[in-house]
Order: sequence, then structure tokens, then C-alpha cells
Amino acid sequence: GRSHAYGWQAEELVDKAREQFARLIHADAKDVIFTSGATESNNLAIKGIAYQYREKGNHIITCVTEHKSVLTTCARLEKEGFEVDYLPVDRQGYLDLERLKKTIKGTTILASFMSANNEIGHIHPIAQIAQILKSKGVLFHCDATQGIGKIPIDVQEMGIDALSFSAHKLHGPKGSGALYLRSQNPRVKIKPLMDGGGQEHALRPGTLNVSGIVGLGAACEIAHREMDWEVKRLYALRERLRVGICSQVDEATINGSMDDRLANNLNLSFAYVDADTLLSAVQEDVALSAGSSCTSASLEPSHVLKALGLPSDLAHGSIRFGLHRFNTEEEIDTVILCIVNAVKKLRSLSPLYIVKKEGIKIG
Ligand SMILES: *Cc1c(COP(=O)(O)O)cnc(C)c1O
Repeated sequence: GRSHAYGWQAEELVDKAREQFARLIHADAKDVIFTSGATESNNLAIKGIAYQYREKGNHIITCVTEHKSVLTTCARLEKEGFEVDYLPVDRQGYLDLERLKKTIKGTTILASFMSANNEIGHIHPIAQIAQILKSKGVLFHCDATQGIGKIPIDVQEMGIDALSFSAHKLHGPKGSGALYLRSQNPRVKIKPLMDGGGQEHALRPGTLNVSGIVGLGAACEIAHREMDWEVKRLYALRERLRVGICSQVDEATINGSMDDRLANNLNLSFAYVDADTLLSAVQEDVALSAGSSCTSASLEPSHVLKALGLPSDLAHGSIRFGLHRFNTEEEIDTVILCIVNAVKKLRSLSPLYIVKKEGIKIG
């Protein structure tokens, strides 16, 4: 309601947040739609584009390491008659851009690639991908949930047509997200998934979550200001962690490339150690995730680690470290100590490890 002062104040706050998010990704504020998070943004972008451009073609391209909210959205579209190609990645997490080029065909309407992976922190060459897609007239959706605030994202310069974001991955509130949709050259049209009032250009109707949106805007404002030095700090902490653990534990492998990787991400597999057992051994001291927070409840190893071609024992032994703004060197040292001690202890109880190290013959 804008008919009274409180309504106007809320609208002003929402407009400010729209500017704050837009500034961080170099977008026009009018091209920003607020949502409940990246899951909704991914659904709205991918389904919205697919339904809108169905007459033009039914082919979509994405990648096997995308977030589940992208993969399951694509799987649903497949059931509805769309054709989806899931590009593989190599052992380090890299996409083959030549293969992307070859996969595009006359019916391709959309491609969706994340800016950075949530499990292994791998950064895709977004500008190069966008250029390939643009030259073939294919729209480009980017799930930038992990990249925003960690690497520079410029939707204009990079050529991103639609972009998803979730505030809580950047110290903002949970249940608050955004979708950028380009309104010029080309104008990206989507079919809304909900019917209702005219909010957000009627593309995402319903009364806005003002407090969540204000929090999202504030998180973006802070990230915009802090990103450069924060990334250097996170990088130094992550390297302290990596060297600290890997210098004291043998047969620890890093999952994903160390080159094109978010500064705050480390993903390690410890041979002869099961990740869930390791996590319960350190859970009183450290908050960590097994390979993927989404799959850790099931016994299936992460789809990302599988996509890298990890043998299943290593995929089951993977731990993901996600560092954040408020982590300190002391905390990193505590984590190193806890992990190193726990891995050594668990291995001392592992017959396989003992056999390997001491060459004892069983039976
Ligand atoms: C967390 C995450 C999502 C989902 O965000 P929600 O806030 O749960 O909707 C989507 N994509 C990536 C890359 C993520 O890291």
C-alpha cells in the first residue's frame, strides 16, 4: 500500500535495496526482481524463459555441477518436453568451451551456468561463456549466488541476461533473494510462475518481504565496500588452512582446481576417512559441511564430486570449508588442530590405512 506514509517509507527502503544490489552487479535497478532466494530465482529465470520462448525452441544447456535448484528445474522441464544437455566438467571442474559451442543448435533457447560452484568454489569463465552464447542468440542465465561479493560481477560487461542471488550467502537474511533480468539488448522476457497483484512488474507478484529486502540491500552495500580487502584476507586464511592441514596429513587431496577458485573455499578428501565420521568427531569445535550440505543427509556422495570423477570412497571422505568475513586466524588454527587430530585418530582405527602404511598382511 502506498496510500499512507508507512507504505511510502517501505517503498523507499525497497528502492534503496534495489539500487544497492544493482550497484554490486552493475545493473540497472529497474531490472531487479526480489524473490525468496536463489532457488526461486533459478526456477523463475529458467522456467520463465523456457515457457516464454517455447515457440522458438525447446533446447536448454546447463552443467552437471550446477546447484540442485537448477538441475531439478531442468529435470522438470525435460518431463514437460524440453530437451536439456548437461555438460560434463573435467577432473578439476573446468567446462569445455568447444563442447559448449558444439552443443548449441537451432532450437537452443537458454543456457544456465553458475559463476562459482558452492562445493568446490570453481569459477567459470562467465564472460567467455556469455560471448559464445550471444554469438548464437542463446540467452544466458547465471546462478551467481556464490560469486557475488567474492568475485567482480558485471552483468553489462560480462553479458549476463539473467542472474540469481540469495542474500544469506553474503551475510544477509535467509529467505531473501533477487533475480536480475536484462531489459535492453536483448530484452529478456519471462512467463511468471505465479498469478497475483502487479508487484515486481507482475513477474513475481505478492507483497514484498520488506525486512528481508532491506537486509539483502545492506549486505550488498557492505560487500561492495569490503570486497577487495576481504577477498585478500579470506585468501590468506584459506591458504593458512590448506597448508596447515596438508602439511600434517598425508593423502589429503584437494577437490577442484586451486587456480580458478573462490578465495574462501577449500574442499578436501581424506583417504581412509569417512566425512560424516570426521564431522561428528569435530562437531563440538567446528561447524563444517560434508561435500555438499544438500546431499549430506543422504548416503549418496555429492553430485559435484562425482562429476569430477572422484572414486566414491574419496567423495564420501570430502569436507567443505567455507570461510567467511568474521573468521579469525585463531579459528583457522583451531580447525587445523581439530581436523589433523581427528584424521590421525580415525586412521589409527582404520584397518585399511594400517595395512597400507605398515604393510601388514591380513590372513
Ligand atoms: C545456496 C545456493 C542456492 C540456493 O539458495 P537458497 O537461498 O537456498 O534458495 C542456489 N545456488 C547456489 C550456487 C547456492 O550456493
